[in-house]
Amino acid sequence: MSTSLVNVGGRAGLRRGDRVVDIASASGEQLSSDPMEILRHWNDFRSWAGGLSNDAPAATIDSSALGPPVTAPQKIFGVGLNYTDHAEEAKLELPKEPLIFTKFPNCLCGPRADVVLTSNRVDYEVELVVVIGERGRNIAEAKALDHVAGYCVGQDISDRRMQFAGKPPQFSMGKSVDTFGPIGPGIVPLDEIEDPNDLAISCDVSGETLQNARTSLMVFAVPELIAWLSRYCTLVPGDLIFTGTPAGVGSVRDPRRYLEAGDTITSSIEGLGTIVNRCVPGPG
Ligand code: ZN
Repeated sequence: MSTSLVNVGGRAGLRRGDRVVDIASASGEQLSSDPMEILRHWNDFRSWAGGLSNDAPAATIDSSALGPPVTAPQKIFGVGLNYTDHAEEAKLELPKEPLIFTKFPNCLCGPRADVVLTSNRVDYEVELVVVIGERGRNIAEAKALDHVAGYCVGQDISDRRMQFAGKPPQFSMGKSVDTFGPIGPGIVPLDEIEDPNDLAISCDVSGETLQNARTSLMVFAVPELIAWLSRYCTLVPGDLIFTGTPAGVGSVRDPRRYLEAGDTITSSIEGLGTIVNRCVPGPG
């Protein structure tokens, strides 16, 4: 049975199929109710979860109560132009080194949260999100996955109007608006995903499939990204890497397809599940 770490109304839960176990209660408060604390003690959590009996008290999962499985990361990295098909549609050269920007943690929201639109040029980007589970600096590529807790689905929502209003463009603000980082539905542990760079990835907006690719199209694969980032920044548990988006984003389609109030964004990755986010109008 597949398992994941979920955030149910702010409390860490172990999801098993369509049931969820409250981690703090079921462990007799040995483990924390805070999802960030679970990530900081990931190996303890994994060995406890592995030994948990099948009849541990569990509730039926209520998807509408799920929050972001990572609530307060120290860092969120985004990677620009990291899929060959997306660089091609944007008519830009493939980067020779990873193009990194930040998404500030205020943008995180849950797998069913509403995305609040700030202009008529807000765009979607489905992405594989890597969740760091073990601290490290100068991590070798061959050891990179040892530092991963697991993976989830993410949307790197962008306000293209703000992103490209001036020169140079300001990626970090345009991608950090509140609600511009839905993630979930839960963190699927590393060992349940054989190869993060061989997964189907797709995004539908209001029933129309607009992105449909595989993570094998990444320019810099997950281990390369971890090795590169950790040459400069110490990675710590809970850090997130939004690993880039495949072709089909709204701002380079012909005709363009920006998000509108009432749209539903459905983002899926093989083995990780689906997040569903409705677009609502922003203030003013
Ligand atoms: Zn992106």
